[in-house]
Amino acid sequence: MLIVDKERCTGCGVCEANCAFGAIEVVDGIAVVGDACTLCGACVESCEFDALTIEGAEKSVQMDLESWSGIWVYCEFRGGNLATVALELLGVGRTLADARGVKLVAVLIGSETGDSAEKLIGHGADIVYRADDPALHYFTDEAYGAILTELIRKKKPEVVLAGATAIGRSFFPGVANALGAGLTADCTQLAIRAGDGALLQTRPAFGGNIMATIECPGSRPQMSTVRPNVMKQLEFDPSRSGEIIDIDLAPAMLKSKVRVLESVVSDSDDVNIQESDILVGGGRGLDTEKGFTLIRELARSLDGSVSASRAVVDAGWIGYPHQVGQTGKTVAPKLYIACGISGAIQHVAGMQSSETIVAINRDENAPIFNVADFGIVGDLFEVLPKLISKIEEHRK
Ligand code: FAD
Repeated sequence: MLIVDKERCTGCGVCEANCAFGAIEVVDGIAVVGDACTLCGACVESCEFDALTIEGAEKSVQMDLESWSGIWVYCEFRGGNLATVALELLGVGRTLADARGVKLVAVLIGSETGDSAEKLIGHGADIVYRADDPALHYFTDEAYGAILTELIRKKKPEVVLAGATAIGRSFFPGVANALGAGLTADCTQLAIRAGDGALLQTRPAFGGNIMATIECPGSRPQMSTVRPNVMKQLEFDPSRSGEIIDIDLAPAMLKSKVRVLESVVSDSDDVNIQESDILVGGGRGLDTEKGFTLIRELARSLDGSVSASRAVVDAGWIGYPHQVGQTGKTVAPKLYIACGISGAIQHVAGMQSSETIVAINRDENAPIFNVADFGIVGDLFEVLPKLISKIEEHRK
């Protein structure tokens, strides 16, 4: 709860101006807090008279931060394979661990994990905590959450990261909640502040219009989920050595109210646009669902996959697994061809790391041209057939 000290408040209005949620109003010379307050703390920092405090915040400041040490990465293992994002997180985790002078720890949970633990060491981990049990064959929030929560309670790492995948997004908030920790979701950048070791967690905010850097200076562990395809993984180094520790799994930890009978991959989920080297993206400029015929044809001629803007996913022209952007997937292919996509900031947030970007748009002022390496100003219904026939000619 945000408390206003009426003795100290001068009614200067700085807090009102700094509140992004319009939750503070100066009434009769005193700041009054409304229901829209999110306890973000921006007003507390802006008040030079120390007239504002967040009740309860001081509780966490008393935590013994020094007793928490180590950078941890939850390394997702699914369908017999490590998720690519796990290796990407070890890449950034290595940088953070070196900056703090601490160990980088990987947590591997699953069944029949084979040589995955060794692989994690080759990709940067110093220690791997492994929970390998047939009962963990299918992911469940309860079992995976219980194992990770228990380990964190025992070992007290200062930072814990997970991929912002369906699994990470599902169980990581529950772990943070059980530990009473904060969690910053969907980070695109991470850094350590020298001195106090605060994790600087950067992510898009306010509809992608600003990049916000979030920190939890007074509590541990600091927890973040990170989008796939944003961080760079380290080259596998077979000469690296590390320790693999098998976790003792108490039967209670493996229990779940959910019994998974079968796991099936849906047809539309079959396309993993995050793993494609070439993506052809279609937007509202396609006019109708039929416009995707051309996009599919171009993708096929390039051995690529089809992606899309949110506008066309919302219109039902193509499924959500194809959506690129802030609320879709982050992709970084070698080639991204944006056809009839305007280049809204929320779309660009998901594809700007592509190696080469080609944009086709009939509006020469479309923002997509600001991020494109090559631009074609023209009607896609004229440009695409010519492009496809040139590529086909070339392939013969
Ligand atoms: P439009 O903006 O309508 O652009 C269509 C483009 O096609 C125009 O530039 C036009 O000039 C061009 N065009 C039209 N006809 C032709 C033609 N015949 N030939 C060539 N060019 C043509 N969007 C995403 O994509 N991904 C997200 O994850 C996402 N998340 C969002 C999250 C939030 C919180 C919000 C508020 C929005 C989000 N959006 C997202 C929506 C985003 O703001 C845009 O509305 C959306 O990206 C627009 O899609 P578009 O470019 O296909 O359509």
